[in-house]
Amino acid sequence: MNKNENLTGIYLLFLLPLGVVSAACAILFLQLQENILASISLIVAIVSFALIVSRYMKYVGDIRREAATAETAERFRAEQAETHVEELQHYVEELERSSHALRESRERFRHAAYHDALTGLANRNHFLEMIDPCLRTSTDDLGERFALLFLDLDRFKTVNDSLGHLVGDKLIVNVGKRLVAVTENRGVVGRFSGDEFAILLYKIKDPSEAVRFAEMISDEIGVAFDLDGRQIFTSVSIGIAVGNSRYKDPEELLRDADIAMYYAKEMKKPYVIFDQIMHARAVSLLELETDLRLAVERDEFELFYQPLVNLDNVSLVGFEALVRWNHPSRGLITPGEFIAVAESTGLIVPMTMRLLRSACEQAVEWKERGLAPDQMVMSVNLSAVHLAQRGLVDQLRSIIFETGIEAEHLKLEITESAVMQNAENVIAVLKKIKELGVRLSIDDFGTGYSSLSYLHRFPIDTLKIDRSFVSTMEDGSENGEIVRTVIALAKALNLSVIAEGIESIHQFHQLRILGCEYGQGFLFSRPISAKEAENLLADDNRWRNILPPNEFGVIARNLEYTHLRIQ
Ligand code: C2E
Ligand code: CA
Ligand code: CA
Repeated sequence: MNKNENLTGIYLLFLLPLGVVSAACAILFLQLQENILASISLIVAIVSFALIVSRYMKYVGDIRREAATAETAERFRAEQAETHVEELQHYVEELERSSHALRESRERFRHAAYHDALTGLANRNHFLEMIDPCLRTSTDDLGERFALLFLDLDRFKTVNDSLGHLVGDKLIVNVGKRLVAVTENRGVVGRFSGDEFAILLYKIKDPSEAVRFAEMISDEIGVAFDLDGRQIFTSVSIGIAVGNSRYKDPEELLRDADIAMYYAKEMKKPYVIFDQIMHARAVSLLELETDLRLAVERDEFELFYQPLVNLDNVSLVGFEALVRWNHPSRGLITPGEFIAVAESTGLIVPMTMRLLRSACEQAVEWKERGLAPDQMVMSVNLSAVHLAQRGLVDQLRSIIFETGIEAEHLKLEITESAVMQNAENVIAVLKKIKELGVRLSIDDFGTGYSSLSYLHRFPIDTLKIDRSFVSTMEDGSENGEIVRTVIALAKALNLSVIAEGIESIHQFHQLRILGCEYGQGFLFSRPISAKEAENLLADDNRWRNILPPNEFGVIARNLEYTHLRIQ
């Protein structure tokens, strides 16, 4: 019921008795006209009527006021309700907006957590998760198998170093795009780190399908990349691991593809399929790594010494210290088996520091006991990895100080490939080493494609001709010519020269005729233990049979090498 209907009801309620009272008074007035009582009755009736009317009017006024108040209150409530509805709407919108933003940021986080920022491809974690279902449903049935391809760009570091990181990044992005284009919907592409990518190839009929796919990838990446108007060529090494029921964990599959990739790199092949022999080798390499760590802790290394000989008079002028590993179960292991692992693990640094100290101590001891020749040289091999270490010069300084060796009696042998790797930096380090008074020799010379323009800037004392040239040098052969040229080069640069790997009297004589001053090789002695070296030092008759008595001092010197030009 509305407000107006209420008022009408109220009016009717009062008007009806009012009418009845008025009618009754009128009847009374007519019947008792001449009667005083009638007059009084009339007055009473009129007064009553007036009272009733006034009460009625007041009542109506009250009701109107109340109705107005009610109306105002109602309007106010309605307005308030409207405001509330608006606020609620606004609140709901806000809520929707923030939940949308939350959803978006969750998506962004999810994407960032699962994708590589540079290429937008799946990252390592996401990629591994995608392998998981393949492994669970994997059978050895044809048509249901899958393959994992692990890819690494070749020489990417060169692009990065020479053209800058921006170009490097662009190359990575473009490689990623090509991989996605070749893969289409046959699999997924991921980027792991740096220049490493992986492709999960679904549903292959047999391994040869993965090989054909790898060939396609290799061809595609081999096409020049046009980056900022510059043509950049690159290639890729691919390791392939085919999924089978033996694999239980995505990491295992990835590990095998990774191992195969390293084989591809090593063998300079575009791709290699993983096999069990690779696995066995990888396991033994890992064992070697673990054993080597222990060996450094337990100091299982021992130095052997190979004499350095003056070819003019066949006198002993020093030793090259060569490391041997006294393995607890395998016995004596030669450096060829472990130096590369020691370098890749960084263990070469603590190992060399101990060896250096022990070689210096040995030289001092022989000197003090009067066994060593006056200007005896102790040659120690220094790896390229070590050369790049900060603090090397300080460590050398303290070893020289602590052992008391005269610095010029210590010689460091650094391979030619090591010095050429990062020539400018190496020159700076070598200069500092030289300032200590230590002598320097370039080892395996002739194998590292030295730039002659650099060579004269190296603060070195000696060139050591690589064994491969000495062992195959015959009169007039190409290697004989190389030996002749290196000797001439050393003389032109005012460096001393030593030939390693002299095994025969013939080689010895040839080197002497060419004017090679020093030599080292099995002809004189194999590398021997410290005890054997002491015996050799004490033996005055050593190598007497090598040099016929009438040949003393015949060394072809002052040969002219007019054909040699230093660039
Ligand atoms: P390298 O520095 O060229 O050392 C000479 C190697 O040639 C030695 O092999 C030595 O035994 C061998 N040799 C010497 N004369 C002859 C010869 O007449 N005929 C033949 N066939 N071989 C000869 P080793 O001791 O097995 O060392 C191999 C390499 O391992 C060394 O080559 C050197 O590069 C590395 N090496 C050895 N000791 C150390 C070390 O303490 N530190 C580092 N960084 N490398 C080392
Ligand atoms: Ca050496
Ligand atoms: Ca050598």
